[in-house]
Amino acid sequence: MRTILIVGGGSAGWMAAAYLHQALNVPGLPPRAAITVVESPDIPRISVGEATIPSMRHLLSVIGVDELDFMRATDATFKQSIKYVNWEHLDNSYYHHPFGRTRRQPLDFAGVQWLSSDRKIPFMETCSEQPVICEMGKAPLMMGPWDMGAPLTYAYHMNAQKFADYLRDFIVPKGVRHIYANVTDISQRDNGWIAAVNTDQQQQLTADLYIDCTGFRAKLIEQTMGVGFEDCSQWLLCDRAVAMHAPYKHHYPGMVRPYTTATALSNGWVWDIPMQSQRSMGYVHSSDFISEADAIKELQAYQGPGCEELPVRTVHFKVGRRQANWQGNCVAIGLSGGFIEPLESTGLYLSDLGAVMLAEYFPNHDDHMEAMAFRYNRILSNRFYEVLDFINMHYCLSKRTDTAFWREVQKPERINDRLQAKLAYWAKKPPSMSDFEDQLLPGQALQSMADNPFMQDQRVPVDTAALWNHESYECILYGMHFDSEGYRQRFGQNRPPLQVHPYILQ
Ligand code: FAD
Repeated sequence: MRTILIVGGGSAGWMAAAYLHQALNVPGLPPRAAITVVESPDIPRISVGEATIPSMRHLLSVIGVDELDFMRATDATFKQSIKYVNWEHLDNSYYHHPFGRTRRQPLDFAGVQWLSSDRKIPFMETCSEQPVICEMGKAPLMMGPWDMGAPLTYAYHMNAQKFADYLRDFIVPKGVRHIYANVTDISQRDNGWIAAVNTDQQQQLTADLYIDCTGFRAKLIEQTMGVGFEDCSQWLLCDRAVAMHAPYKHHYPGMVRPYTTATALSNGWVWDIPMQSQRSMGYVHSSDFISEADAIKELQAYQGPGCEELPVRTVHFKVGRRQANWQGNCVAIGLSGGFIEPLESTGLYLSDLGAVMLAEYFPNHDDHMEAMAFRYNRILSNRFYEVLDFINMHYCLSKRTDTAFWREVQKPERINDRLQAKLAYWAKKPPSMSDFEDQLLPGQALQSMADNPFMQDQRVPVDTAALWNHESYECILYGMHFDSEGYRQRFGQNRPPLQVHPYILQ
């Protein structure tokens, strides 16, 4: 039986506590871990993240929560897609990135078929029912018995503050110990590992493994273990958000949309996330290009008249990753381990991944720690770069020139090497599944990886499936009309026009 001390009780802390408790203490097998969470009564959680991706359903099912119970407690709604508005041009055009896509044949030619058509129907509408279902305001599930219709792929929008509370109230009665105290100082062993954590309640807490869930403070992994931070703000320029909540009762549109809307504004974009009682909106922007006051005005203009009285909160963030998520006997999960801006809702996903991988690579002895840490760090860094490339692409494919911000994000020096290599490749051939078998990339990108000590692991083939695979990339590439003319020359446009997804035609 190993002991785990989690410092921090935000979403990351409680997701890790609940998942590890259930995954490591399986009925019928010897229990493997006793978990304690120490949470500050004074330092607030960040609690802005409210949109998730479908991996959340796996996490919740392992934890064992009832879906309806969870949705009621966290003000949750279904999320089926992200609707991107004004990203390519400032003309109210939009495209969807839905979670589900239908493959009608073993070899999937949906992309090539669309490229060789007249392209009058948006790509995703030809291979997923969800863009149209979203626009109709419908749910991903049928009411009534499950066998009435296969559910579509979905995730949730929810109140992150209530989510952390819900997980705490669910898992503490099952045996996770919970302490309210501020961690003041941390002592280390001769080998640099953490020896004990001291609190302002005069407690000295010890464990075999320490998990840093202290958010951007990174109290254990950075302040104690000294693990550095790889800044990625040259690829993703946004560093601040102004956020507010608008109750449906008084504010347009007065209905729950079953998708997230991400609308590009003058210097970033606004998330518009529906919960049961209200919408959460936040203007993610670059402080180098717009002042806080102007960003608030633009957010209010986005919502329309009548929202001037709603309280606005400002959140600062930094985009980047911890150079090692696991060092010695300390693992960073959540914002302490890194953050990529919230487009595509990857914050909670990275915490989820951190907990799931830790259960899989759990060290049963101190002697195992180094080997487990090696693989864990490799997987986490690969996933981070995958997400980084994917988000970077949303910006660099824009054709907007209306502000300095949009002109800046399209410059070659704002596109990271891996993504540049991917785009160069996809100008020669459309994306396909094997492009994501590993992170080996041609030419210059590979060289730059070799030069970067923190990316050398990238050269080892990755044995876990890529989260954002060719289907997600196709969705953004074709939604933003990447290399439209080049593809037209190669594929022509003589094929018969495509139809929308057959489900919609019924
Ligand atoms: P926090 O919420 O900051 O929690 C830190 C915890 O550590 C708190 O409980 C605090 O009390 C405790 N603590 C700190 N210091 C000490 C100490 N010395 N002693 C004891 N306790 C301590 N993610 C998504 O999935 N979807 C989204 O749409 C999304 N949107 C986002 C928008 C913005 C602008 C930002 C910044 C993030 C967003 N995220 C999103 C990310 C998401 O909010 C976080 O990943 C998630 O909330 C996890 O945060 P955390 O628990 O790591 O940190």
